[in-house]
Amino acid sequence: MIIVMQKGAGEREINLVIEKIKTAGLDVHLSRGEERTIIGVIGDKTRVDADEIRAVAGVEKIMHVTAAYKRASRDFHPDNTVINIGPLSLGGNKVSVIAGPCAVESRDQLLDAARNVKRLGAVALRGGAFKPRTNPYSFQGLAEKGLELLAEAREATGLPVVTELMSEKDIEMVAKYADVLQIGARNMQNFILLKDAGQTGKPILLKRGMSSTLEEFLLAAEYILAQGNSQIILCERGIRTFEDYARNTLALSVVPVIKKVSHLPIIADPSHGTGRSDLVIPMSRAAIAVGADGLIVEVHPNPEKALVDGPQSLNFEQFGELMKEIKPIAKVIGREV
Ligand code: PEP
Ligand code: MN
Repeated sequence: MIIVMQKGAGEREINLVIEKIKTAGLDVHLSRGEERTIIGVIGDKTRVDADEIRAVAGVEKIMHVTAAYKRASRDFHPDNTVINIGPLSLGGNKVSVIAGPCAVESRDQLLDAARNVKRLGAVALRGGAFKPRTNPYSFQGLAEKGLELLAEAREATGLPVVTELMSEKDIEMVAKYADVLQIGARNMQNFILLKDAGQTGKPILLKRGMSSTLEEFLLAAEYILAQGNSQIILCERGIRTFEDYARNTLALSVVPVIKKVSHLPIIADPSHGTGRSDLVIPMSRAAIAVGADGLIVEVHPNPEKALVDGPQSLNFEQFGELMKEIKPIAKVIGREV
């Protein structure tokens, strides 16, 4: 971190800044120019509050030399973080596909979906028991009953279960049933939820907020990492743009950037990323080609009858086609599905 003082800032202001840095246990490197003084901060910058320094009269600007996120950065942890949960493996050479319905609707629906996605090559089952719906009168999920069905589907198939945690009040219940806690796009900056979920020690699938920058996304992951939990799966699920031909714009360029700046695995969600089943297979191919560690895809026994997100859900035949089409792409870049 570099602090640039205003032209003509006095000794009093410079010393005040130095004092704040030293109080945080860090060292300074002073550079006194003809016109202005520049203060370099040496040490763990997470211990200084940039806003507190910005508030000192005489401070012109603060520049970050290294990223604001620390534990999430590759500088901090050069090797990929690898997450292995039964057959699900992320961050290594394998490309893993998580699939299942948007919402758990019934026993028949879930078990049918679970058996078929497993048969076709999925290595984890997704399904929401708590659904973040825009309309309060829409189906909100089966809550604990849905979690019980997910546990039954895991028993029947051996697939680990990924399910969304929406509120810290449900944390014990959801953590009891889930193998991976999903934090949805709408909660990416629910910092209390991030901290509490991090403390469970369970792997966390963190979806990118629909209007979050890359830095905000990684700072959200930093909240979980700061709890001592490094089992984080990042997920690009599309962002809001001016476009309206698709539900969201799947920002796939974030994948190679994240692979460069962070050690955490990243997967893509072409279902929410497009909102259209006809775009799910092409965008899945693209996601694997740019280096995603996996996919999370919505699959329903009968998308036309789905209670949630039918238009973006694949049927079993389409999901089989997806699995078939991503295999050669993974192979070309030296990976396997
Ligand atoms: C979901 O995965 O069903 C979901 C609600 O996703 P998102 O939080 O990305 O909208
Ligand atoms: Mn959905």
